[in-house]
Amino acid sequence: MESIILRKQDWGEADELVVFLTRDLGRLTGVAKNAKKSRVRFGGHLEPLALVDLSLRSRKRDDLVWIDEAQAMNGFLGIRADLSRVAKASYFSELGLIFLPEGHPEPAVFDFLIGFLESLQKADPGSLLFMLDEIQFLALLGYAPRFDVCPACGKPVDRGEDALFSGIHGGACHRGCLNDSEDRSLPLSPDTLAIIRKGLTVERGVVARLRLNSKGLQEMRQALSAFVRSLRGAEIKSLFFLEEMRLW
Ligand SMILES: [Zn+2]
Repeated sequence: MESIILRKQDWGEADELVVFLTRDLGRLTGVAKNAKKSRVRFGGHLEPLALVDLSLRSRKRDDLVWIDEAQAMNGFLGIRADLSRVAKASYFSELGLIFLPEGHPEPAVFDFLIGFLESLQKADPGSLLFMLDEIQFLALLGYAPRFDVCPACGKPVDRGEDALFSGIHGGACHRGCLNDSEDRSLPLSPDTLAIIRKGLTVERGVVARLRLNSKGLQEMRQALSAFVRSLRGAEIKSLFFLEEMRLW
């Protein structure tokens, strides 16, 4: 079964525990018996971010599945050769690990992730394109941040008006809609809002031509990071790494 590997860890002496995403069965966790030794059945293909064809068998005793064999489909070597791209792919994979429930089919998420990895394989997207992809991925995972309508009052944030991003409310809010006890440190300028809105409605070829200055990119990064951390309620390692190393 076509699968994207999200995470792999040691499981006892010889086995490996693998979390992966399939189109039809959603996110699953499997045990690859003797994976640390068997080059024949697994061939070292169970690496995070790889697209593989897994032979699966159900286990009676728990919710895990057996992984009997793995065939490589796409190892995305172009991503692995570049730290910035590895960091971006790892972040999306961690978002999947955090927000996808086990055993719930999400074909749109699967297809989006494949498309993201394929385009990342060809080229490193700029910061703007990457963050627009991030917003769309979050939306597919069921957590779309809002940039058109203030989530606190439900009314539109007008063109030319600036806003304050609220991680708790999950979007760009009118200044007057956040009370004093709430975080008011994440402004979004009218230009930034206009570019995000446009980027989310036009096709990819047009997005590649959009430009946002470094202040705008910084505002957008801080808003999205605050949003994801607020959803998670904790630090996200791959996001911390992206930010610390300035790889986004
Ligand atoms: Zn409002």
